[in-house]
Amino acid sequence: MKIESDKDFGTRECPSCATDVEINHNRCPICGYEFPHPTPRQKNMKLWGAIIMLILLGLLLLGLW
Ligand SMILES: [Zn+2]
Repeated sequence: MKIESDKDFGTRECPSCATDVEINHNRCPICGYEFPHPTPRQKNMKLWGAIIMLILLGLLLLGLW
């Protein structure tokens, strides 16, 4: 069995020179391209968006009944 999926998870392609850069490296070692910092807030925003949508949907259904 190969464990290539783990490798894929740990790297990202540099948009400047297409080199696979480790995910914990913020800068490409080949061309020096700086990756934008991942924002964990966006995940929370998505979660809150889903919760608000559910609440709105619930209110809508309550209003219809
Ligand atoms: Zn690069």
